[in-house]
Formats: sequence, C-alpha cells, structure tokens
Amino acid sequence: MEMTKWFDTNYHYIVPELDPDVKFSYASHKAVNEYKEAKALGVETVPVLVGLVSYLLLSKLAKGVDKSFDLLFLLPKTLPIYKEVIEELKGAGATWIQFDEPLFVMDLEGHKLQAFSAAYAELESTLSGLNVLVETYFADVPAEAYKTLTSLKGVTAFGFDLIRGTKTIDLIKSSFPQGKYLFAGVVDGRNIWANDVAAPLITLQSLEGIVGKDKLVVSTSCSLLHTAVDLVNETKLDAEIKSWGLVGPYYYFFNNPVYPGPRRGGSRLAAAALKGSDHLRATEVSTRLDAPQKKLNLPILPTTTIGSFPQTVELRRVRREYKATKISEEDYVKAIKEEIKKVVDIQEDLDIDVLVHGEPERNDMVEYFGEQLSGFAFTANGWVQSYGSRCVKPPIIYGDVSRPKPMTVFWSSTAQSMTKRPMKGMLTGPVTILNWSFVRNDQPRHETCYQIALAIKDEVEDLEKGGIGVIQIDEAALREGLPLRKAEHSFYLDWAVHSFKITNCGVQDSTQIHTHMCCSNFNDIIHSIIDMDADVITIENSRSDEKLLSVFREGVKYGAGIGPGVYDIHSPRIPSTDEIADRINKMLAVLEQNILWVNPDCGLKTRKYTEVKPALKNMVHAAKLIRSQL
Ligand code: GLN
Ligand code: ZN
Repeated sequence: MEMTKWFDTNYHYIVPELDPDVKFSYASHKAVNEYKEAKALGVETVPVLVGLVSYLLLSKLAKGVDKSFDLLFLLPKTLPIYKEVIEELKGAGATWIQFDEPLFVMDLEGHKLQAFSAAYAELESTLSGLNVLVETYFADVPAEAYKTLTSLKGVTAFGFDLIRGTKTIDLIKSSFPQGKYLFAGVVDGRNIWANDVAAPLITLQSLEGIVGKDKLVVSTSCSLLHTAVDLVNETKLDAEIKSWGLVGPYYYFFNNPVYPGPRRGGSRLAAAALKGSDHLRATEVSTRLDAPQKKLNLPILPTTTIGSFPQTVELRRVRREYKATKISEEDYVKAIKEEIKKVVDIQEDLDIDVLVHGEPERNDMVEYFGEQLSGFAFTANGWVQSYGSRCVKPPIIYGDVSRPKPMTVFWSSTAQSMTKRPMKGMLTGPVTILNWSFVRNDQPRHETCYQIALAIKDEVEDLEKGGIGVIQIDEAALREGLPLRKAEHSFYLDWAVHSFKITNCGVQDSTQIHTHMCCSNFNDIIHSIIDMDADVITIENSRSDEKLLSVFREGVKYGAGIGPGVYDIHSPRIPSTDEIADRINKMLAVLEQNILWVNPDCGLKTRKYTEVKPALKNMVHAAKLIRSQL
C-alpha cells in the first residue's frame, strides 16, 4: 500500500486500498488493551480512534475497481466493527471516547457531510452512556461542515484547532449546541514554543461565556505527535532560546519589557521591502531555454541525477568525527574531496551529462543550510516521527535569517574543477527550509520565508560568480505546505513561488536554474509551478506517469525543461534498460523531445552503490538508445 503524508504534516500513513467486496473484521484490540493497561496503573484515559468516516475518505480504491465506486458505500461494513470496539471499551470501563474526524476541515461535498450524519446516527445507541468527543484539527471547520458536525447524533463534545484555524471561533460564538463540551485547542500541537498565556486566556474567557465553565476543556490544537517531547535533555541549546521553549516568546515579552526579540538585522528590512516586486528573470523561459543548453553543449534528452549519492557508513563516520573535533578540518576536507572525486569519476564513466557532487558533506538537506545561516538553532533530541521508525529533527528558526558567508561554493567549485562537464550547484529552497523547520511564531511565516529566500539568493549569485552554470534549488516540500482549504491556496502559493523567484531572479540567461520536487500530485498547483519560472524541473514520477504528465501538457505550453523521474529510487530494485526506455517513450508521447530530461525520481542517498551504479548505467543506455531512434 502507498505511504502518504498525513494532511499538511511530514508524518506519513499507509493508505488503505479497499474494494467493494472487502471484508472487515475486528482484528487488533490495541485501543482496548492500552486503555486497560493505563487503568491498571490508575490512569483514566480517553481512547482515541480514527473516525469511521475519515477512515473511508482517506482510503483509496483498490486497483481495478471502477472509479465510480463510492468508498462511503462501505459504511455499513465498517459500522458493525466500530460498534464492537465501542462495546468492548465500554465493558472495560471507558467513560469517554474520542473519534478523530480531521476530514471535517476539508472542503467536502454535501453527500460526504451527509455520510457523517448517517454514520453517527447509526452509532447513537451504541454510544449512549458515553461521553463522545469528535476532534477536528489542522484548519478551520467550514460553516456547512460546522453545522453537520455540531448536530451529530450521539456526540457530546466537539474539538477544534484554534491555532491553525482562526475563523472557527466565530462559528462557535454564533451557535454552539447547549449542554455539549467544547475542547478548545489553544495550545499549539505543531510547534515547540511554550504557550502564549495571554491571548488564549482571552479566547477561553469569551468561550466560557458561551458554553459554560463546566463544559469548556482546554486542549492542544492537535495530537502532540508533530512536536518534540521535552527540553530536559537539551543541554547544548542556548539558554535564552531554551527559555522561550519553556515560557514562550510572548510570555517572555509580557513579563520582560526588555525582551530583545530575535536579532533585528538588515534581513528583516530587506524582506519587508520585497513585497512590491515580482522578481522576474529578465527573459522568458522559452527564449531563455537555448542559451544554457548551447553553452553547456548538451545532447537532447540530457541525463542527470537529483543530487545526493549513497551515504556510506564511512562517510557518516567522517562527518561525525569532524563534528566531534576528533579529526582535523584538513583531514575532513581531504576525505570529502576524495568522496566527491569518486562520485565525479563514476558519473563520467557512466557518461552522465550534467554531474552532481553527491552531497557527501550533508547530513540533511535542511539542517546543512540551517547550520550555516544565522537565526537557526538545533536540538540534540528534538525528534519527530516521520514514518515507521524514521524520525526527523527539524531545526528551529528563532531569529532573523541571514547568510554570514557562502555555504556551498567551496564544494561546488571544487567539484567543478574535477571535470569538464557541467557540475550542478545544489541548494535547498526557502519554502522547503521553512516547511521542514520549527518556525518562530511572532511574525507571519511568509516573512521568515522571504528572509531565507534572500540568503539563498546570495548563495545562488556566489555560485554563479564561482563559475557554476547549472544551479538546482530543491523545493521538495513546497506541495506539502499547501493549506488544506482551497480558499487559502492562492495566498500560500503566491508567497511560496515569490520566495523561490527571489532566489534566482538575478542570474544570467546562460545560467540554468533547476528545481526538484518530491511529489506526484501537481493537479492543483501546476500554474504555480510554471510561475516558479525554473529552467528545468525534475519531479518524482514513480506512480502515475500519464496522469502527471498530462497535467503538464494540458492547457499549458510548458516551455521549460522537465525531468519526470524515469525510475523509483525508493526501492532497491534495479530497472532494466528496456523498462527505462519504455518509460522515456511514454513521456515522449506527451512531452516535446527538446524539453525532456532523463533522471531518477529523487536523490540516491538512501541507496547502495551496488544498486545505484547498474541503475544509472541502464538509465544512460536507455537515453542513448532513444536518442539514436529520434
Ligand atoms: N538534492 C536532494 C538529494 O538528492 C533532494 C532530496 C529530496 O528531494 N528530498 O538528496
Ligand atoms: Zn525528491
């Protein structure tokens, strides 16, 4: 089954694939067992279950099922299972049950809302005697959905995210069912700052007047899965920043009139000055297209990779020892240079057209830049689950961002000096740095993003000056940050695209700007991607080529280069030349040959050399094969 991001977070879930004949049964008694375990320890807990309507709406049709089949038709099959679970929880002594129904915050069609009403009406008798909370999160609940939600049968409490949703409060104020509980999510479940106590207090006081003191519950805005656990083990974190984590910037401000605020450097002023301008490149992309291609002397269907090469145990050891000052800077630089040389030689042997240095000096594509920018701090233990046993450790953006000195120029120009072929400079874009960090909450996110954009712009220009003619600015997480509600899309996309453009609007026509995105769903943002105005975009494309590519073809003449991944790097499987050639042919059926690039669908960092070498060899063969046939 596919693994996909949970709403607009970096947490992943496995998407159930259902068909009309699926048979459900009550398999795992985890919820009941854990309730009992806590109870045995003397702790009364609220068991939390995925709401039954959200469960179906987040599932997808199994392969081969007629697209017209509505998954909500499966409600009569899931209801009896939910009833069994509820009965068992009741039997174990539970007095509260929580159903997470985050789908309530999406733009849902009427029949989906009706499914909620029908499902809960069906559960009503089973739920009687219990307090039942339906929890929503990550955005406002739209007015129609709010009506449906607050009239659900059998439900005694409603939960709202009052951090990410700022409008729901008006709906609550205009009507809230009498005698029901309100779970007010005023504590941010997705950031690390200690809670601001002043503003939520005002909110809570006004809500108290509506629902009554005994029915108002102070709550987190969502589950705490998305934030770090605690500060106790952060021995290296700056004491002042740590204090904001304990009491929060706002609280600090209210209690300390001398609150210094994050450093107020020129970057804040510069970012503020950006708003009026469009930051366009001097020439249109279709006109621009030839200049670098000629200068770089590239064949049609040029081959390249996305940036990273395998990160070996040895490489990790070198970085770790350098960080711990166990090896000298000289030894470190020597080791990294050797690694780059190895990667360059491999690519030349394979006859790849546009080379990369392989990112051996980077532990993580965001952390690497954060460590060199001002305004960032790092935790030792602030891990957040991403999927399964995999966790990420997002940097903290606490102050104004600026770039004290070049970050990648040394490595990129060293790599370029090893080859006559073009070497791609490799940067992480501002939106991705923002979306994969814990961000200060005392100014709008877009202002922070503009500051990062200005820092990356300096880097782009220094790379260009340093003789790097192809620069890739990864925006892996641009799609992930798309707001859940359509009404908010255009605002986000405007500043996100603008931030990207700021980074490279100053380069010459002959400098080729690439971007890369790990995402296979561009339907709703294709116009913004075109607006990014990159010369080449490489994208993940392992799942649904035709659908994805038709997006690029439809209605828009995409003039710039596009490299839809020709094989899936998330698997150790080595694709054959024929298979890749077949893929390229399918792409050529949709896209013009002069804009198509040939590349894997993401960085190779998690793979082994024994997989990467043969896979890239087959990829280059496939490209040559097709070139010879055109
Ligand atoms: N340049 C990065 C790499 O190759 C891109 C990673 C990503 O898209 N997640 O590792
Ligand atoms: Zn990627």
